[in-house]
Amino acid sequence: MSLKGKSAVITGSTSGIGLAYARALAQEGANITINGFGKAEDIEKERSAIEREFGVKAAYSPADMTKPAEIAEMIATAEKTFGSVDVLICNAGIQFVSPIEDFPIEKWDQIIAINLSSAFHCMRAAVPGMKKRKWGRIISTASAHSLVASPFKTAYVSAKHAIAGLTKTVALEVATDGVTVNCISPGYVWTPLVEKQIPDTMKARNMTREQVMNDVLLAAQPTKEFVKVEEVAAIAVFLCSDAAKNITGANISVDGGWTAA
Ligand code: NAD
Repeated sequence: MSLKGKSAVITGSTSGIGLAYARALAQEGANITINGFGKAEDIEKERSAIEREFGVKAAYSPADMTKPAEIAEMIATAEKTFGSVDVLICNAGIQFVSPIEDFPIEKWDQIIAINLSSAFHCMRAAVPGMKKRKWGRIISTASAHSLVASPFKTAYVSAKHAIAGLTKTVALEVATDGVTVNCISPGYVWTPLVEKQIPDTMKARNMTREQVMNDVLLAAQPTKEFVKVEEVAAIAVFLCSDAAKNITGANISVDGGWTAA
């Protein structure tokens, strides 16, 4: 239980990879703030399960990652509730698939806000407390799309490349403060985010569901399998350990070999 007594905020953790981070850090003893959208009863079920299964405290923040004031409030509330924010995982993200000429301007703005700017606002709010306590772990979920592009994902690929730059910059700023800043870049992980993009990809590429699964998604991954959410979360747990204190500014791939090709 390496994180006993520490507090972790994970954005976009009502589902998918974020929820797996929350559960994995709770298993290590951290008190948890989960965040994201969904049905109130589903969120409460996940929150209370974390407390029950791992014997930690778990709170829920409804902060909308497109709203800087709500983000600052989420970090302040977590500091007040648990005494600190020691681990910050910037994970909230959405996807939209369309050729650039039809890409809705409001979708571009929304993806940049949720997938990129929210990480800036979270880090900006959490760094002072981490510097004061001389310990912190900041992790963002980037993507294989922080390293390579795919057509029809202008906003997503742009935001994810920028997350890698934000990670490196903040890592340098806090390098002597006991705070590490890294990002994790998964390939395709089977979550609602991937499932939801299948219909639009079918339309954009004029393909069947099966063709999208095999010729677009798994085609990119030499291992020919989806990454599991628990495999992504295990990297975050390692990055939070003392053994990882000299890993900072890194972009760690977990993509079945996608970006090796
Ligand atoms: P998901 O759809 O299961 O989860 C996304 C989470 O973000 C949910 O909790 C959702 O409620 C939350 N969210 C969305 N908009 C929000 C907002 N405005 N404010 C607060 N929360 C909001 O998706 P996922 O696949 O688990 O994605 C998590 C992260 O992992 C994203 O940043 C995504 O880009 C990244 N990622 C996913 C994959 C993949 O294949 N699934 C691959 C690489 C990177």
